[in-house]
Amino acid sequence: MTVHSHDHQLCVDEAIRSATRLCQERGSRLTDLRKQVLQLVWSSHKPIGAYDILKSLQNQGRSGAPPTVYRALDFLLELGVVHRISSMNAYVGCTEPGLPHISQFFLCIACGVAAELNNQSVNDSIEITATEMGFKIQDHTIEVSGLCSACQ
Ligand SMILES: [Zn+2]
Ligand SMILES: [Zn+2]
Ligand SMILES: [Zn+2]
Repeated sequence: MTVHSHDHQLCVDEAIRSATRLCQERGSRLTDLRKQVLQLVWSSHKPIGAYDILKSLQNQGRSGAPPTVYRALDFLLELGVVHRISSMNAYVGCTEPGLPHISQFFLCIACGVAAELNNQSVNDSIEITATEMGFKIQDHTIEVSGLCSACQ
């Protein structure tokens, strides 16, 4: 996994650019709070919980109440620029924002990094099986835990 050594500022810049563009396309606005929340989610490749986001905002001198943080997160989820990692009750930035996809994550239990992969054949077999079983998929995220290459 390359997430341990790279120029992360490029990831953050790219994420903000994508979110700004997606907002423009939809006629919505990336408000200061939404942007700050997105930057916090992107502070690393480790999923971050809503409470930690709230604390960081308060440290930055912003008195964001919990509901506003949750609303900002919901907006970013809906925009498709962040994913929710249910098993960790936390959020992580999407590496392919704007493209609807079933996301799969490898979650490292040692360093906490979440690596997103978008494997079409995994997606296809899940969708085909769901159709066969008459199952309507709501939450697509697949979470696989283990050790990343750097932590083994
Ligand atoms: Zn990065
Ligand atoms: Zn994604
Ligand atoms: Zn690791």
